[in-house]
Amino acid sequence: MARFVFITGGVVSSLGKGIAAASLGALLQARGYRVRLRKLDPYLNVDPGTMSPYQHGEVFVTDDGAEADLDLGHYERFTGVHATQADNWTTGRLYSDVIAKERRGDYLGATVQVIPHITDAMKDAVQADTDAYDFVLVEVGGTVGDIESLPFLEAMRQLANELGPTRSMFVHVTLVPYIPAAGELKTKPTQHSVKELLGVGIQPQVLLCRCDRPIPENERRKIALFCNVRPESVIPAYDAKSIYQVPLAYHAEGLDREVLRHFNLSIYGEPRLDAWERIVERITNPEGEVTIAVVGKYTGLLDAYKSLNEALAHGGIAHNMRVKLDWVDSEIFERGEDEVVRRLQGVHGILVPGGFGERGTGGKIEAVRFARERRIPFFGICFGMQMACIEAARNLLNIPGASSTEFGPCAEPVVGLLEEWTRGNRVEKREAGGDLGGTMRLGQYQAVLAEGSLVRAAYAGAASVMERHRHRFEVNIAYKDRLEAAGLRFSGMSPDGSLPEIIEIPDHPWFIGVQYHPELKSKPFEPHPLFAGFVGAAVKQARLV
Ligand code: GLN
Repeated sequence: MARFVFITGGVVSSLGKGIAAASLGALLQARGYRVRLRKLDPYLNVDPGTMSPYQHGEVFVTDDGAEADLDLGHYERFTGVHATQADNWTTGRLYSDVIAKERRGDYLGATVQVIPHITDAMKDAVQADTDAYDFVLVEVGGTVGDIESLPFLEAMRQLANELGPTRSMFVHVTLVPYIPAAGELKTKPTQHSVKELLGVGIQPQVLLCRCDRPIPENERRKIALFCNVRPESVIPAYDAKSIYQVPLAYHAEGLDREVLRHFNLSIYGEPRLDAWERIVERITNPEGEVTIAVVGKYTGLLDAYKSLNEALAHGGIAHNMRVKLDWVDSEIFERGEDEVVRRLQGVHGILVPGGFGERGTGGKIEAVRFARERRIPFFGICFGMQMACIEAARNLLNIPGASSTEFGPCAEPVVGLLEEWTRGNRVEKREAGGDLGGTMRLGQYQAVLAEGSLVRAAYAGAASVMERHRHRFEVNIAYKDRLEAAGLRFSGMSPDGSLPEIIEIPDHPWFIGVQYHPELKSKPFEPHPLFAGFVGAAVKQARLV
């Protein structure tokens, strides 16, 4: 039966609980255990799909089409275990399920309350389908002391009490700040945040203390004494240059050992961390560097493109290269061609990522044009592929009105809304004026790859691939023949041939656009073939300039 490790956070947000959970997952896996990771998010949105990436970072998408918190991306990248809809729960989704049940009459006669109805739903969610795993790691979003996360903490407290200590434990991530004026690391915030946890009935067994310098032994003992944990279970968690160093660093400080010790499992032997060591070695000692310009809208907040960022780094790992990202706000290109040349000249690759809405599209189209005409490796992802098709229609087919119906009705809808499509043998539908939440083409779909195409070669000859989608609009096949005559190739299509999945320019060093999000499936150990291919093309380009 699965053991449950609950991961909470205190003092401040942004302590890297997600990476901590993912790293612990990786360490347990490296010791031969089967792990599953889950995230509880305390906000009222039913899913993060409608939240601005500015506020909450990227929306991660799972194979089964859940729009999920970006931490699920870390879990997948660190453990290789694919997450599902059942691995991310928001307060909003749990409430809406409970309220729907209440309306159906499932609780007839009862007063429906946070305790027990919501907390029971939380406990059920966390425990569902866990028999096949040795460990279930549950990250509780938010910071201890927030009103929002209280029901989750209460539910996890109850669950831990039901399971008993042999099947449950709490790992609390805190901050030990250095105060320059005093010249000291301060333990008081950690003490207070553990008190806060004790106040809701939770005693953590391991403390993961984020700090920017070593915690002296006496301070470690002090934390242990005041927080009721063993000194060995006060684990310093230093800032790391790369997130991929974190599992090794936590192991060196004894995190996996302390967790196993709590569960009375053997602490002898070493986890198999050679793959992690190889990756860290490659990241820290690259042979060279290439520069990729990422031309998008949310360039101010890196979290908005988390998986993309990582996938590009993985592409670099494949070639032992460091990938330097040059984030460019596409709006600057609307000032004219000179600005495009000034900003993009000398980069080794240009990537136009996913995006929504019209603002900045003129600049994205200019970036595509620059890459196409100057023969610079180009990668268009989702919105980026749509922009590439609009660019080709405008500049190669001479259709100035070519656009997307996402920006309003237009005479030449090169990109438009498709209201019906098939998924396996099911027909899925959406309406032009329908709800925004959860009405996109979401999750894994098949793309059939054309023989002799660039992408087919990039995917090592595969005849078809499964990739994750998140978009409402599609490239309109009514323009396919004309675009192909102008030099584009529709080299990947949905199995029924109705939805363009991939376009490429055969007569170009590397020009590929994909309607899906390949970055979501890239792993450090298994860089996505398209990112490896794109960075490879950028390396060649770097040798030319
Ligand atoms: N806005 C576009 C669509 O909905 C692209 C979405 C995306 O890039 N993820 O189709």
